[in-house]
Order: sequence, then C-alpha cells, then structure tokens
Amino acid sequence: MQFGLFPRVMWPMSVYEVPLSKVEKLEKVVNSYVKKWLGVPRCLSSVALYVKGILQLPINSLVEEFKCAKVRTELLLTGSKDRIVSGLAPNPSKGRKWKPKVAVQEAEAALRHGEIMGNVQIGRGGLGRTSGKPMWGKADQKEKRRLVVEQIRRQEEASRQVKAVSLAKQGQWLNWEGVERKQVTWRDLWSMESNRLKFLLGATYDVLPSPDNLRIWTDGDPSCTLCSGVATLRHILSGCKVSLAQGRYTWRHNQVLKCLAAGIESRRQQVNAEGSHKKGIQFVREGEKSKRAVKSRSTTQEAKDWQMLVDVGGKLVVPQEIVTTNLRPDIVYWLTGSVFY
Ligand SMILES: [Zn+2]
Repeated sequence: MQFGLFPRVMWPMSVYEVPLSKVEKLEKVVNSYVKKWLGVPRCLSSVALYVKGILQLPINSLVEEFKCAKVRTELLLTGSKDRIVSGLAPNPSKGRKWKPKVAVQEAEAALRHGEIMGNVQIGRGGLGRTSGKPMWGKADQKEKRRLVVEQIRRQEEASRQVKAVSLAKQGQWLNWEGVERKQVTWRDLWSMESNRLKFLLGATYDVLPSPDNLRIWTDGDPSCTLCSGVATLRHILSGCKVSLAQGRYTWRHNQVLKCLAAGIESRRQQVNAEGSHKKGIQFVREGEKSKRAVKSRSTTQEAKDWQMLVDVGGKLVVPQEIVTTNLRPDIVYWLTGSVFY
C-alpha cells in the first residue's frame, strides 16, 4: 500500500480535480483489502488501522495523504513568486465537502493561535528541556508549507481520536493507563507470524472471537467453559477465577519470564566476559582534537560481575547482601565484588 498504491495514486490525485467523497470511497475499498490482509474481522473500525494510539500500524490513510497533497498544491500556487500564477491560482479540488483553501485558512489560524500561546511545557522534564516549536511568524515560505501540512495531519489525527472515543468496545484502549505504546514497523509486520499479528490487533480492539463476541455476532453461548461467568476477552485473559486457581495464569507468566530471563542471561554472560572498561581522563594537547569517545551502550558494561536470580519454579529469596525483604520479585539482578558507578 505505502510502496505500491500511494506512488501510483498520489500524483493523479494532486494534479486532477478529485473531490474528497471520491477519495473516501476509494479508501473504503483499500480498508477492506488491508483488513483482509491483516486477517482482522470486517467489523474492525478503520480508525484502528490509522490512529496513532496504543497500537500504531505503519500504514497511512489515503484521505489524509490526499488532503496534505491538495494543501501543498494550494500553497505552492498561491505562494508562487509569479504574480500571474498566484493571482489566478485554480482550486485544486472539486466538491463542496472539503475545500483546500478553507483548510489552509483554518490551519494558519490554528498556527497563529499556537504562536500567541507560545511554547508550553509538556511532560515532566525541566523548563526548556523540550525543544520549542518553530514559530509561524519567523518561518520562511517553505517552513510555513511544512507547518501547515503538519497541522492538517494533526487535525486528521484529532478527528480519528474523537471517532475512537465514540466507539464503546473498540475504543476501550483510550481508558488504559500506564500501557506502553506499541509501534509496529514494516520489519515487524514481515517477521511476525500472521496469527500473532491477528491476536495483537484483535486483543487491542476486542474483536477476537471470544464467546461474548460470538454471542453478538452469531448468537452463541457467552458463558465461560471453566466457570459460569461471562467469557469476555478480559475474563479469558486475566479474570477467570478457575484459571487462576488451576495455575494457568502462573504458567503463562512463567513462560514470559523464561523468555525474558534467557535474553538477559545471554547478555549478562557477554558483559561479564568482556570485563570492565575503565577509562582515565583523556587530555587533549593544544591544537589537537579529541578522539571520539565510544559511548557505552548501558551501565552494565562498566562492571564485570553481574549476578541474576529468576523466580521460576522455586521460591526466590532476595540475597541478604542486597536487602532483607519478604517480597518476591520476578528477577533480581545485582553486582558483586565491585563498586557500581
Ligand atoms: Zn471463567
């Protein structure tokens, strides 16, 4: 899609007077094929494919790209140094639903408003930590074009988020707190098994064929086969008391822990074998340039005697030399016989 369809479609779209409704129809066709390719049910909202939320797929919306291309054409024509071109700039898009001229005016107004507001502090970093937005008033012609296109993309994303809020089931992810955002790249898509991708998308937007969903789709029995509760996705994944008592969740937890521990263990052995890389101060003579210091990839590279304990099978006790505690962490990773700095 990104590499096959867009390069073929974008040029005719930006040159010819194509109305937005036509592009929206085209996107519906594209969406149905993308869903088929990803192996997700047809009921999955198109918002899930393009929204930059908890799960971000590497595909762009055709409508968004169309709007950006039209706005770019509009700005190029109206901002042309040739007076004849800028004075007689034609409307690059037909249709009454969306007009590039109006969209540009709105985007410029929003950018001017943003400039009046100034740079606001985002996140918990200190003052001035976040790089400031480029100012509309100080930007040159090219920079202004870029800012307007970025604003259009932001507006599109905002409208997708609004649509996601209105989805009672598929918009549940908006209420999740403390969940790491996942960005799926093309490389991930190629290397991922199709079932895994299907599960990832289905579990995020709750469109997996759980008994509760099957009841809505085909009128089946929604009860859990282990207990008498309603078998929703949440119930199956982490809410069934019988599964908890039988140790099914513990088994799954341990499988994940084993994978993590195997990864950390191989890295630990590698680091311990490498030994420490203590560097003194590198003095630079007058007139010479300092050699580029190779940055260590992690703090674990500084030391050489790392130990690890993993809570799989037996009861893990945190070594006395670290701390005396009754807690049972999954993995304890510590350094012995050396000062860590
Ligand atoms: Zn159950």
